[in-house]
Amino acid sequence: MDKLLGEVDPQIVEIAAKDLKRQQDALMLIPSENYASRAVMEIQGSILANKYAEGYPGERYYNGCQFMDEVESVAIERAKALFGVEHVNVQPHAGSQANMAVYHALLEPGDTILAMSLSHGGHLTHGDKVNFSGRYYNVAAYGVDSETERIDMAAVSRLATEHRPKLIVVGATAYPRHFDFAAWREVADAVGAYLLADIAHIAGLIAGGVHPDPVPYCDVITTTTHKTLRGPRGAMIMCKSEYADQIDRAVFPGLQGGPFLHTIAARAVAFKEASQPDFKTYQAQVVKNAKALAARLIENGFRLVSGGTDNHLMLMDLTSKYEKLSGRQAADHLEDAGIIVNKNTIPFDKRKPRTTSGIRLGTPMITTRGMKEDEMVLVADFMTEALENRQKSAIKRQIREKVKTLCSQFPIYEYLNY
Ligand SMILES: *Cc1c(COP(=O)(O)O)cnc(C)c1O
Repeated sequence: MDKLLGEVDPQIVEIAAKDLKRQQDALMLIPSENYASRAVMEIQGSILANKYAEGYPGERYYNGCQFMDEVESVAIERAKALFGVEHVNVQPHAGSQANMAVYHALLEPGDTILAMSLSHGGHLTHGDKVNFSGRYYNVAAYGVDSETERIDMAAVSRLATEHRPKLIVVGATAYPRHFDFAAWREVADAVGAYLLADIAHIAGLIAGGVHPDPVPYCDVITTTTHKTLRGPRGAMIMCKSEYADQIDRAVFPGLQGGPFLHTIAARAVAFKEASQPDFKTYQAQVVKNAKALAARLIENGFRLVSGGTDNHLMLMDLTSKYEKLSGRQAADHLEDAGIIVNKNTIPFDKRKPRTTSGIRLGTPMITTRGMKEDEMVLVADFMTEALENRQKSAIKRQIREKVKTLCSQFPIYEYLNY
């Protein structure tokens, strides 16, 4: 039982070592990812994973849970303080499960939700056809305006009046602009709907004070903990006290069994980190970097959806510069040059979701490494050079070397010895 991992399973160690090198040597621009801290990772791989603790602190279905109660209570109290909310459930295993639990708590199958369509930046769990949410609920979808490529609240209000949703979901996975939660509250009140904010992407920005706060306006808020919040993979649900019992019962026993206490402990560590002053500095830098990256890409001749960004991410429309290049091909060419992005549909995309006309970029990871505005100019120029020379493997290889040199000045996880 006490053998080292390297003795027990060199094969898996070797794979992890290869991915460490990948994470070190390339520019990670996927906006939903981040580098969790050593502290977060240490407790995640701990003995706290060994315990069953179905239920909630003080009311478990298993014995021996006193320290599980302690760790979950610490996580809850820290999350409440960090976001200024009345109630938190820290048990959802991931963002999708958190949204599922909210629907399970507040809706009956067949009820109507109004949420952002996947093709305009919404998440699968916002009612997409292939997802449980599209299968069990009646979905009305809003998108962005074709001119401004921003959400038009007057159009949302018209849709709400037409469809009378029981729940309105505000939030997205690929929307580069702020959400005006006060305006969403007005729409929800006008039709008597619950208002759910899904802040999976922007939770860190909100905790860091660089995005408008949903808490005063929303009945329920879901978030992942591993995106801009920079914690372990996982999620949580925040709500007003009046929904606390419904939400808790929907998570357990409604959808899940035993909570993952090791990741709940890691969430607690991440919430502590997020309450420190340097977290605010980090989030402000994430946004500054996104603006700098966007500005340079525009200077280099690319079109960004809605003309830029207010948050940590941007959507690049490739069609304006390269008619024939799809998002999928662009992402592969960039990977050849050591730049990792993901293909993404742009609003009103003429290509399919597997091909797309856009790519999605974000700054959370490169900012965690310590990069600032000057490096964003380099990153934008590397991307531009790689796409201009996409048919020339030798040039892409040269850029990959330059990327590697830049990355070597911003090392990650230096303590790891595999
Ligand atoms: C990432 C994301 C989720 C789901 O998160 P998973 O942890 O991958 O299930 C839900 N909603 C939004 C808006 C997201 O961006």
